Amino acid sequence: MAAGTPSLDRVVALLRRLPGIGPRSAQRIALDLLLRKRALMPQLAEALAAAHRSVRHCSRCNNLCEDELCSICNSGRRDRGLLCIVESPADLLAIEDSGSYVGEYFVLMGHLSPLDGIGPDALHLDLLEQRLQETGLQEVIFATNSTLEGEATAQFVAALVPEGIRVTRIARGIPMGGELEYLDRSTLGRAVQGRGTLDF
Ligand code: ZN
Repeated sequence: MAAGTPSLDRVVALLRRLPGIGPRSAQRIALDLLLRKRALMPQLAEALAAAHRSVRHCSRCNNLCEDELCSICNSGRRDRGLLCIVESPADLLAIEDSGSYVGEYFVLMGHLSPLDGIGPDALHLDLLEQRLQETGLQEVIFATNSTLEGEATAQFVAALVPEGIRVTRIARGIPMGGELEYLDRSTLGRAVQGRGTLDF
């Protein structure tokens, strides 16, 4: 779907490589920028270049950051005895937003997916093993996705956790406000299997 000029076509072609953006959306975004948000174009270019220059991986938890350590590893106020393992920075942010967790994280930046050729080498496990050796670690919480790949990843990585450290998996279950009859059966099955003690 050519937009008409060589420069515009190039923008459309690049936008199409982003997740969730098909040919029509790419063309609409490119035209909107050119026709209505022209001032945004150099700002966007500059912001992308700055992020490309500055954003790197935290040397401790592999999360994205702009210094040697991310703000969580650097905070000094997190419980270093708890380590939550997630697949992506988006998952970390979701848990942070929930306000329910005070420990630290390790971000795998992916999951095992043998069919896509993604093996353990892709998961930065060397860095994770260093973190697992730190003294004071008491519990490793797996918060990988509740997908086949997420489950397989959790099982594989759990085998790396040294003896004596508790290994847990976040509860998979019923969303708040969820009605059982509308819940998909595998979620309901897991919720029943993963039941906990009812505290009054
Ligand atoms: Zn970090």
